[in-house]
Amino acid sequence: MPELPEVETVVRGLRQTVLGQTIEDLSLNAPPASVFVSASFGDESLPNIIIGRRITSVDRRGKNILISLTGKMTLWVHLKMTGHFYYRERSTPLDKHDLVVFYLRPENRAPGKMSLRFNDYRRFGRLRLFYNRELWQQDGLKELGPEPLELTRGDFVLLCKSAKRMIKPALLDQSFIAGLGNIYADESLYASRIHPTRVTSSLSTPKLVELHGQIRRLLKMAIRKMGTSVDSFSGVNGNPGEFQKYLKVYGNEGNPCLRCGRLIVRQRIGARSAHFCPRCQRA
Ligand SMILES: [Zn+2]
Repeated sequence: MPELPEVETVVRGLRQTVLGQTIEDLSLNAPPASVFVSASFGDESLPNIIIGRRITSVDRRGKNILISLTGKMTLWVHLKMTGHFYYRERSTPLDKHDLVVFYLRPENRAPGKMSLRFNDYRRFGRLRLFYNRELWQQDGLKELGPEPLELTRGDFVLLCKSAKRMIKPALLDQSFIAGLGNIYADESLYASRIHPTRVTSSLSTPKLVELHGQIRRLLKMAIRKMGTSVDSFSGVNGNPGEFQKYLKVYGNEGNPCLRCGRLIVRQRIGARSAHFCPRCQRA
C-alpha cells in the first residue's frame, strides 16, 4: 500500500500537472463502492457536481490525498492497495482499470488535450466528495494523528511515553501517527535498533529521539527517491520510485543483516508481519 512518501510523490505530481486546471468532462467506469458523494449534495451525481470546477489545491494528510475544487468542496482520495493517478493525453487509449477519467482544460483556456485517470485494478481505492465544512468530521480523517515530518522530537517522545503498547503496531496506527505503513515502520525500527514488540513507554528518551530522527531521515530520503515500488506503485507520470533499492529489512527476510550478518526474519506481530534483525534488534 502506498505510504507517506508514495502519496507525497503523487500529490507533488498532481500539483505539477492538474493544479489550476478545470474539469471539462468526467467519465465514470467505477463500481459504486469506489465513488461516494456526500448526502449534502442531494441527489446530484459526481459528474453533475464537479464538471466546470477548477482544481485550486492538492494536499496530503497521512496517506490521504485532498483535491480542493472551486465551490468550497474537496475530493478526498485514498489509493489503498493499487490506486494510481495517471496524467495522460486524452488520445491515449483507456485501460480497463481507468475507473474515473477527468478531462482537463488548462488555465489559459487553450483546448484541453490532457486527462487525469484514476486507475485501480484491485478497486479498494476511494474517491469521496465532501463540502470543506464537513470534510474533517469524517471517519478516516478526523482521528488522524500527527504528521511525522511536522512532529517535534519532544512531542514524539511524549507521545510514545504516554502510550503503553508495542511500538510496531503503534507506528502503523494512523491515529497514533499518520502516514507510516509496514515499509517505513520496519526500516525505521531497524535503523534505530528497536525490536518491534518493545513497549513504547519502556523505551529510553535517547532511543525515542533516535527513532524520531530515523523516521524523518527515511521519509525524506524516500520522498527524494519518489517512493518505494515493491508492488505496482508509480507516480502520476507512470514512473516507478527508487527507494526499494535502499530497503534493509522490508522484504529481505532470509538475507543477511548488513550490520551483523544474522539472517533477517519476518514475524507476525499484531495483525501484520514485521521484518527485523534478531541480533541488532533485541526484544
Ligand atoms: Zn543485525
